[in-house]
Amino acid sequence: MRIPFIAGNWKMFKTKAEALAFAEEFKGLYQGTDVQTAICAPFTNLEALVEAFKGTDIKVGAQNVHFADEGAYTGEISVAMLEEIGVDFCIVGHSERRQYFGETDETCNLKLKKLFEGPIRPILCVGESLDERDADKAFDIVKGQLEADLAGIDGELIKKLVIAYEPIWAIGTGRTATPEQAEEMCAFIRETLIALYDEEIADEVIIQYGGSVKPANATEIMNQEEIDGALVGGASLKAKDFMEIIDF
Ligand code: 13P
Repeated sequence: MRIPFIAGNWKMFKTKAEALAFAEEFKGLYQGTDVQTAICAPFTNLEALVEAFKGTDIKVGAQNVHFADEGAYTGEISVAMLEEIGVDFCIVGHSERRQYFGETDETCNLKLKKLFEGPIRPILCVGESLDERDADKAFDIVKGQLEADLAGIDGELIKKLVIAYEPIWAIGTGRTATPEQAEEMCAFIRETLIALYDEEIADEVIIQYGGSVKPANATEIMNQEEIDGALVGGASLKAKDFMEIIDF
């Protein structure tokens, strides 16, 4: 049984004071739902958010991590550092990291392997660019990303994985994939997992859609059979909007 999972990705937004103000407002609106919820926030907010959401079932996630245990990697954060804070999720391979910060399928694979050594659940982002979609390459691109990112990872671990399908052309553009396009790719992702592992394992994996999800389109997206959740950027910055999405 897959529990719907809707996570916010704040990207590089919100100071600690702003994060705490959000947490207070959000807790006030949050009645508890059947949907698993998390906020993936900048590193500097994680500890404060874990503390603020204590006693609720609202989870906290990071947006990136390094794959080494420790070392001379200026500016990086390790899995152990996140575990100590009590973070539950960590995004891996967001398209903005792939595009601007040199994230590759190889580093995604190393990060997933490192996260899978402990309790933090990875949210792996995959998705094609507009050029790739227009050239009819979307399915090949996503399949290639999954094969490379998951290479050598045991099926039992994969059951803990969350995959977010985020077509790059739908991120922050207001141009959402149609529910049919999102559903088609999410179904294809599960087919690919069946091919790489088996049906029992693929059946456990939460598959989210991400890209311009907002209160007005959340119901339509969440009602798709193969879509188990959403990864929400801009609309997760406002407590009321994010709450409306969770209440889809
Ligand atoms: P937007 O919801 O702002 O389009 O961002 C989507 C995203 O990148 C979530 O990770």
